[in-house]
Amino acid sequence: MNSVFDSERGDYNSVTELEHVQQKAQIKAAEITLLLRRHKDKPMHGVFFNNVGDLGLSKCLTFAFLRSSGLESETEGFIMACQDGVFNTSVYRSRVMGIEVHDTRCRACRETPETLMHLLLACPAYAVLVCMHRHNAALRVLYYYLRHSYDIDETPVLPYAPGGIEFVVENEKCRIYWNYPFTTLRLIQANKPDVVLLEHQSKTIFVVEFSAPGDTNIVRKEEEKRIKYRDFLFELRRLYPGHSVKKIVLIIGVLGEMMSSLLSNLEIIPASRNKAEILAAQM
Ligand SMILES: [Zn+2]
Repeated sequence: MNSVFDSERGDYNSVTELEHVQQKAQIKAAEITLLLRRHKDKPMHGVFFNNVGDLGLSKCLTFAFLRSSGLESETEGFIMACQDGVFNTSVYRSRVMGIEVHDTRCRACRETPETLMHLLLACPAYAVLVCMHRHNAALRVLYYYLRHSYDIDETPVLPYAPGGIEFVVENEKCRIYWNYPFTTLRLIQANKPDVVLLEHQSKTIFVVEFSAPGDTNIVRKEEEKRIKYRDFLFELRRLYPGHSVKKIVLIIGVLGEMMSSLLSNLEIIPASRNKAEILAAQM
């Protein structure tokens, strides 16, 4: 239908046109509800989506990578396949594809069944390296964004730029530490937070800690990280008198699951306040 809404009059041209628009909206809403119900009822492909809801995580943020991360459609498809558990492991081949697999134990460590979660989180042969890579790759997004926001890099640097990261970078606006072991007045266990941003003008220190655990550990991990760095924050306040110290805990599940608190945590840093959702999606 042409020109349903008359923008000059600020109204619809007729009652039938208005009804037609409302009808179309209702049909679209009903179609979405039906699609969602069908998706949730799927025994395999619905599990991840249902888990996100059951664990009280944010669906909007968890799937934000589909809206605003700028990924290729192939990459989005690969991520969704992993979320659905469609990954060519021995257990998948045996249980889902019905292929006769002589031994479904992990081919790398031979300890437990070879599932995607085992490879991502628990396999002694793979997990340590994979966890560290995932952790740093996600955190680099925020780190390089901060460097650019505070004019340390004149042009934006892609987070997947190869090479190591300097422990400390500084200009007249800020100092940023990456994985830096702080010397404190008394001995404490956790003295090496992921990122520390010191804003010179506002005299504010932001201590950022990030983790990418399995979905059932997301809520617990946030609490754990807060407790772990309590002594460090106390020491930092002693080392930098007159400064305000703020703790930022960022948790993103191994398959991209996020709590809504991730946004409010990102928004604590003034530079990331207006970009929080995009940063979360890219991480
Ligand atoms: Zn293994």
